[in-house]
Amino acid sequence: MTSSHPTKRPTDATYLDDRAQGNEDIDLPRELLTLPWIDVHNHAHTLSWDDRERYALAGCRSMLMVASGYHWTPYKPVEADDIRFLWDDAINRRTAIERNHFFEAKLGLGVHTGVRIENPDELLDAMDDYCALDEVIAVGETGVVPSQHVSRWGIDEQRAVVQAQMELAEAHDLPVILHTPNTSSDATRSYRDGLGVTPGYEKNAGLGADPVLDGDNPALESVRIDVEAMRDAGLADERVVASHADRNNTAYLMDETDCYLSYTIGHSWLIGVDAADVADAIDEYGPDRIMVDTDCANVLRTDPFALKRAIFELYRYGIDVDDIRQVVVENPREVFGFEQE
Ligand SMILES: [Zn+2]
Repeated sequence: MTSSHPTKRPTDATYLDDRAQGNEDIDLPRELLTLPWIDVHNHAHTLSWDDRERYALAGCRSMLMVASGYHWTPYKPVEADDIRFLWDDAINRRTAIERNHFFEAKLGLGVHTGVRIENPDELLDAMDDYCALDEVIAVGETGVVPSQHVSRWGIDEQRAVVQAQMELAEAHDLPVILHTPNTSSDATRSYRDGLGVTPGYEKNAGLGADPVLDGDNPALESVRIDVEAMRDAGLADERVVASHADRNNTAYLMDETDCYLSYTIGHSWLIGVDAADVADAIDEYGPDRIMVDTDCANVLRTDPFALKRAIFELYRYGIDVDDIRQVVVENPREVFGFEQE
């Protein structure tokens, strides 16, 4: 536009012309409106049909639905069969989900150590056959955590369960979704006593067991133990995607491993990670080992549009379209073998 707008008096547009020379030539990234994207960690099989449709509406091309969480096992203590049911439920429904919503939906199956499981060897034995299924494209999410729900699980036992899954992944040439613990952001105010459940997260907070890891930085210590297990399992660094990457573990994972880092941006209110953290990581380390995931699940306040929103935010934060594409679609394809266009 020229400055000769026929407006009755000057508008914002007039001053835009005057003040910001060259503004007219800004190349808006129209391709981001239709850029396909891949969510490498969610629990979409637990969401509503409408939420899964939101993924499709927002241009999701492929996703990895993770069945390993203990949030969905009703009985405490948790037994192997409870987790196995979660795997079977996901297998049961996956094809219907694809046919309803058209995106590619694959599975990650694993044993999460966020709750102690009575007889984990039964699960690990069964897992070998599950890993051979075409629809299973990853092991996980799993990873040592500093404290459990309901009852404690010692570090050595957790590590053994994590390493056994990494060995299976290696044997089946599958990548691993590593659950890395976050350091939760400081609350500005505490909630009323007696509610038990964390608002926004359907979990009986009163059942939290005493930590099995203390020290200055148990969240990072957990990741170090996972990396030792990975090395002992003979699993290549490039086959591990550390999900819930954050300011606490990014430097360690980037500098001392060749693992991928996936930033979870679907529940920023809980873990304090958002597109700005992803942009900072791309600026500092480049896009080669970075991904983004939503971790959307029905047990907490999450946003199926989060990844699409993050795409726009990354651009606003100064990240190039090519780097955005690499992070949200190319890296996931390379590591997990999702369909090409
Ligand atoms: Zn998850």
